[in-house]
Amino acid sequence: MQTLAHTRVLLVEERHDYQEKLRRMLEKVGCSLIDTASEGQEGLDLLQASVEGVALVVCNLDIAGMDGLEFVRHASRLGVGGLILYSKHDDAVRSSAEWMARAYEAPLLGVLSVPFDLGALAALVRRLHVERIVFSDVLGDLERPGNANSEAIDELRAAIDQRQFVPHYQPKVCLRTGDILGVEALARWEHPELGLLAPVHFIGLMESTGLIGPMTHLLLEQAADDAVGWAKDGLQFPIAINVSPLTLERPASAKDLLATIGRSGVRPSRFTFEITEKAFAKDATTVLENVLRLRMKGCGIAVDDFGTGYSSLQQLDRTPITELKLDRSFVRRVTSNGKAASIVASTIDLARKLELKTVAEGIDTREQREHLAALGCDMGQGYLFAKPLRRDELERWARSPTAVAA
Ligand code: C2E
Ligand code: MG
Ligand code: MG
Repeated sequence: MQTLAHTRVLLVEERHDYQEKLRRMLEKVGCSLIDTASEGQEGLDLLQASVEGVALVVCNLDIAGMDGLEFVRHASRLGVGGLILYSKHDDAVRSSAEWMARAYEAPLLGVLSVPFDLGALAALVRRLHVERIVFSDVLGDLERPGNANSEAIDELRAAIDQRQFVPHYQPKVCLRTGDILGVEALARWEHPELGLLAPVHFIGLMESTGLIGPMTHLLLEQAADDAVGWAKDGLQFPIAINVSPLTLERPASAKDLLATIGRSGVRPSRFTFEITEKAFAKDATTVLENVLRLRMKGCGIAVDDFGTGYSSLQQLDRTPITELKLDRSFVRRVTSNGKAASIVASTIDLARKLELKTVAEGIDTREQREHLAALGCDMGQGYLFAKPLRRDELERWARSPTAVAA
């Protein structure tokens, strides 16, 4: 089994004091094979020369010569396992570097701020560790199209059969009153050896192996059962389920989802399906047909991560949407960045005119909540109110009168 001590790390940093500081921090989190380059070209040369490959690159965006941005572009093509960037610049620069790295399909683990925070670095390194160790054999094969490793598929299918995927629920709260207005079901993998895994570790794999559909049905089934249980206890909120664009490109998917709901006896109107704007990028007609069928049976349709993808005004016009979910990247800057605040304000305004509900994702401060409520945003989700909770935790949360005192 691969451990962090055997993980080869490349640190790209020109300042000697930063190099030393980061080296000490990386050693504290368990890395010991650390190479250093003081500028981008030297980093690329080391990457190319490395026989066994570099698992982790930690790079300053502001290095001399070839800067961090150019380095990322070249390094993404050289098969690095994971990439951590950092910068002394503000949030806006860091978040746009994040977008850029993702656009290059770099295996970005995150962008850190300076001065360095050991906890934040450790959390990012841990992500690399989990993904590489758990899926060390799986990932390599699966990521090459048409080369899905049948052992990996069997393992994932067995995990579905054993119902290791469970929904955790994050409350959607009325921003004015604090009342719970619904929940979003978020997939978690109760891995027998690794504990609870978040979607970042498995949704991509599920999509590339074609198992995202069966996983979604498993989640929907459990959510419907939970809805039946909650109704008996007088809790009647709607449940939102995330559906992958790949699922919606399959012509029969809406019928299958409706059949799963039908078997539970819960009314389809209790469910909202969350689709991302990526769903509109490919076969828009099949997607539209599925979405329309779900809507015609009474399900709600939310556009998830709104503002980050491909939807056009024309798509908003022709898709039977009921809800817009404002992406966290805007919400977290709504009180600090004028541009983000204007985008949020105009989106809420547009949604109101189109008679759509608005949900702000990732609210984690009181100021954000108040600002969004003043703009007329209907609902909020975020750590300020609650993290995604197990079913029993959610029940307790929903009953606690102080739960939404925030
Ligand atoms: P999403 O649908 O946009 O879900 C919101 C994500 O933001 C959740 O992460 C949630 O835990 C996180 N979040 C909520 N409030 C806050 C906050 O205040 N601060 C921060 N930092 N994060 C917050 P999670 O559960 O890791 O899910 C990530 C993504 O994985 C989801 O994004 C969704 O796109 C995908 N996903 C989750 N479950 C499923 C599923 O069953 N099917 C499919 N296709 N995708 C899923
Ligand atoms: Mg969602
Ligand atoms: Mg979202």
